[in-house]
Amino acid sequence: MERRYDAFSGEWRSFAEARQDRTFLPSSSECPLCPSDENGDGGEIPRTSFDIVTFDNRFPTFTASPPAPSIVGTDLTPVAPAIGAAEVVVWSADHNVTLADLPVERLARLVDVWAERYADLAARAEVAYVLTFENHGTIVGATLSHPHGQIYAYPEVPPRVRAELLHARDVLATRGTCVRCETGTFELREGARLVADDGTTTAFVPFAARFPYEVQIQPRRHATSLLDLADGERMSLASVLHDVLVAYNALFDFPLPYVLALHQAPTVGPDWLRVSHAHIELTPLHRDAAKLKYLAGSEIAAGAFVSDVAPERSAGALRAAKERAISTGRY
Ligand SMILES: [Zn+2]
Ligand SMILES: [Zn+2]
Ligand SMILES: [Zn+2]
Repeated sequence: MERRYDAFSGEWRSFAEARQDRTFLPSSSECPLCPSDENGDGGEIPRTSFDIVTFDNRFPTFTASPPAPSIVGTDLTPVAPAIGAAEVVVWSADHNVTLADLPVERLARLVDVWAERYADLAARAEVAYVLTFENHGTIVGATLSHPHGQIYAYPEVPPRVRAELLHARDVLATRGTCVRCETGTFELREGARLVADDGTTTAFVPFAARFPYEVQIQPRRHATSLLDLADGERMSLASVLHDVLVAYNALFDFPLPYVLALHQAPTVGPDWLRVSHAHIELTPLHRDAAKLKYLAGSEIAAGAFVSDVAPERSAGALRAAKERAISTGRY
């Protein structure tokens, strides 16, 4: 396993061949994330019950003491050890629940665990960025159906996050504002793209969303990471996240697959804090009940997204879905 530097884009990329051999969609009787029996036999978690557990991924992309790279680099094509961390967060002993089924208090406890892992990994000198994410559903790449999330600690700020932060730095220089603080106020005033807001946390479909039902969730005030949020604010984040997930599941009447990602400040000093406004990005791939938004020519070849659903319409559909869930007792 190693990291290779792409001479064309200037991006670091990870190679972990052992991951090809990892367990792929085992049946629930062979699930490695279900609780073990009284003898400790069964899965990777030697407990007969649990609420939330975190541990190192058995098939890591990054690790604290990586092996030497399998290939020698050059000054044109640098190679580096895959130093960092890859953790698994199992947040339910029940094989068949989704994040939308968790009570808000339990979701808030998960937010606390994300905050603890961020603080812990940020303290490691070799870690520059901590990404918390969930792949929910096989179409977005989940290889285990047992509900779980993951945390990657990267040795540099990864490309998409870096592009966001560099752009936020430009906005700060030209407009004098944090782009997320200003956008949050804008979306509250406009209302058409709002999905949920409780006075502390706002969820909206971005004005120029990449995917039809993409939703971003952010605290109203400038918090650089979950560590800046008080208990009540974390509860609010959990509650608004719950609203969005319930709307997702009611939208087409099946559990909508999505990638959930938590963007927080890089962990390499104070330089990024003024432009790091913590937020959750939820990216489903569906564009209607039966059709997926595939990445095709424009997106793959040019990085230029084309969408066939107006963000105002998808936000309206998500608000209506939440109302349906409430009226049919699924909230
Ligand atoms: Zn399981
Ligand atoms: Zn801000
Ligand atoms: Zn982001």
